[in-house]
Amino acid sequence: MLKNRRSRLEPLFEELKLDAVLVTDLKNIRYLCGFSGSEGALLISSSAAWFLCDSRYTEQAASEVQGAEVRECVLRLEALQALAFENGLKRIGFEAAHTSVRAFRKISAALNEVELVELGPVFDDIRTCKDSLEIDLLAAVAKLASQSLTAILPLIQPGVRESEIALELEFEMRRRGADGRAFDFIVASGVRGAMPHGRASDKVIQSGELVTIDFGALKDAYHSDETVTVACGEPGVRAREIHAIVREAHDLAIQRVRPGIFCKDLDAVARDHIREHGYGDYFGHGLGHGVGLEIHEQPTLSPRSEAVLEEGMVVTIEPGIYIPGFGGVRIEDTLVVTAEGYRVLTSADKQLLIF
Ligand code: ZN
Ligand code: ZN
Repeated sequence: MLKNRRSRLEPLFEELKLDAVLVTDLKNIRYLCGFSGSEGALLISSSAAWFLCDSRYTEQAASEVQGAEVRECVLRLEALQALAFENGLKRIGFEAAHTSVRAFRKISAALNEVELVELGPVFDDIRTCKDSLEIDLLAAVAKLASQSLTAILPLIQPGVRESEIALELEFEMRRRGADGRAFDFIVASGVRGAMPHGRASDKVIQSGELVTIDFGALKDAYHSDETVTVACGEPGVRAREIHAIVREAHDLAIQRVRPGIFCKDLDAVARDHIREHGYGDYFGHGLGHGVGLEIHEQPTLSPRSEAVLEEGMVVTIEPGIYIPGFGGVRIEDTLVVTAEGYRVLTSADKQLLIF
C-alpha cells in the first residue's frame, strides 16, 4: 500500500527531472513510509528510499518504516550530503511550504553540489484521494467520535457550561480509544451560535437555546469532523425554522455527491436552498473540505473552488445559518466519495434533538 503511495510520485520525477525528493513534513513522512515519530526526514529517489533519524527513533523506525532503509545519524545534513554523493543525486525537490528560510539556507549550504527544486503542494494533491487503508481509518475514527457524542449529549441541560460539554466529550472519546481530539471543539449556545467558530466557553447553557457542537476525534493520525445542532429545552419557532432549512440544504447536497461533480456546483445546491428561504446573507463560509491526516485538506467545496469530486475523496458537507444577535445552526457530516456516489462516515443523529 505504501509502495503504491510512493509510486504516485513518479510523474513528478519525470515532470521536474528530479533525482530525488526530500520529505520533511511529518504527516507526509507518515503517509509515505509509516513512521509515526516526531522527528526524521525521508529521501526518496526513483529507485530507493532512506529514512534518516537520530538514535532516539532508531528502534521505532525499524518497526514502523516500510520501503525505506533506516539510517541512524548524528547530523542529518551530513547524512544527506553522503547519500546525495553516493547516489549521484543532482536535483532534489523539497517541500517549500514546510521548510523555513533558515532550514533552506542550511540545506543549501550542506548540499552545495545539488540543485534544490522548490515543490508546491504536491503531497496535498497526492493525498486528496484516499486509499482503502485510509478510508478504513477515517471510518473508524468517525464512528468512535459519533458514538462518543451520542453518549454525552444527555448532559446538555440548563445550567451546564459549554466547556463542561467539551471536556466530557473529549473524555468519552479517549475512553473509547481516541488518541485525542481532532481540534478544539466548538460548543456554541444561544447567541454564541452566530459565531461559526465559537470555541467552547464558560457560558452557561440556558433553556430554550440551540447548541451547536462541532467535534472530531484523532486516531492513528486520522481526523474526524462532524457537527450537530441540538436544543436545550423547547426551541422557538425561528430556531426550528432555520434548523429545518439547514438540514434540508445538507441533505440535498449530500444526495448529489458523486464522482465528476464540480465542488462549486455542490456548494451551490446548499447555498441556493438557503438563499431561496431568505437566509442567503447568513451562510458566509464554504460548504465543506477534505479530511484526512489534516482536519482541513483538499478539495475545498466553495463557490470559488475549481475542484471536481473523485472516487476516494473524503469530504465534509456543512451548511449553516448564523444570525448575529440570535444564534445559529450548522449540520456537518463527513463522507467518502464512492464509484456509485457516497458513503456517510459520521453517524450522530442530525434531527433537532431536544434535551
Ligand atoms: Zn467541523
Ligand atoms: Zn469541517
